[in-house]
Amino acid sequence: MSQASVADPQRKEQIMHVAVVPFAKGVRQAGMRLTRAGIDTVQLNVGKLCNQACVHCHVDAGPKRTEIMDRRTAELALEFVRAAGAQTVDVTGGAPKLNPSFRFVVEQARHDGRHVIDRCNLTVLFEPGQEALPEFLAGLQVEVVASLPCYLAENVEKQRGRGVYEKSIKALRRLNALGYGHEDSGLVLNLVYNPVGAHLPPPQQQLEADYKRELGARFDIRFNHVYTLTNMPIARFAHMLQREGKLEAYLELLATAFNPATLDSVMCRHLSSVSWDGFLYDCDFNQMLDLRLSNGRPLRLGEQSATELVRLVEHRDILVGSHCYGCTAGAGSSCGGALTN
Ligand code: SF4
Ligand code: SF4
Repeated sequence: MSQASVADPQRKEQIMHVAVVPFAKGVRQAGMRLTRAGIDTVQLNVGKLCNQACVHCHVDAGPKRTEIMDRRTAELALEFVRAAGAQTVDVTGGAPKLNPSFRFVVEQARHDGRHVIDRCNLTVLFEPGQEALPEFLAGLQVEVVASLPCYLAENVEKQRGRGVYEKSIKALRRLNALGYGHEDSGLVLNLVYNPVGAHLPPPQQQLEADYKRELGARFDIRFNHVYTLTNMPIARFAHMLQREGKLEAYLELLATAFNPATLDSVMCRHLSSVSWDGFLYDCDFNQMLDLRLSNGRPLRLGEQSATELVRLVEHRDILVGSHCYGCTAGAGSSCGGALTN
């Protein structure tokens, strides 16, 4: 991997006072260093508003959140994408569709020739005004990455709330009916699994086979892949663990399972992240911990040219903390699933 120093370790380790080896030290002990190799993907977090309020949410998103990316910031974000030459725009939230600029962002990014990923909680398809959303996504060949933490209703509802499973299945069938998840349709539908409790995900390949068998047999649902994600020990999930007295044990579990082989492909090495209010980060998790990229003052869209911001973000040291063990434990975890076999 390319080499650079791990930046500002002391600041991040103040976030969680836990008895694990500081992540930056763990990286050094593995004889490695972590820096951004380039910006292949720009992840836009267009706001914290969501129609759900899941217990594991690292964004603390919910129906009462008001933080939302405005049109001007969306335009600046698209300029940043162009300046970076990123191939992919990954739109996340909250529930990104609840942002009035969502369709504008998707249309513009597709018009610019970018691959677009929509991170979808499925139930949002049944919110008022979203009736034609599946056709919109299909028409622009947007990849849908949909949350479904289990193929069983009980586990889904424990994490995401009552009634979510039935709506999710209905939404998947609606997407399937448009061609999503069918081989050769060009409409990609991937599902996201994350553990219901404080443990690591099972092996991704095996889980994908289980999902395909169960969802196929029960509902004739098709999809392309399952991505396994590790729950990040931040925000709502961390608060829940803290209340239950399990936070420290969970961090120890992640740190003990630290796998240096994942470091080459952690998503911050190829991604830049933009918050609803236009600040730049190494990843969505660092956003939630307020680990802003800075050059004397925080880097923000509109305050410097897009070209200059790209120059300041590319090949930059990654800001790390104990939460980074969430990306590097076991097979690793990212917005595209496991990082190793
Ligand atoms: S996990 Fe996703 S669906 Fe659940 S509250 Fe957070 S943003 Fe919304
Ligand atoms: S949380 Fe993961 S993606 Fe973010 S900086 Fe840490 S290792 Fe990189």
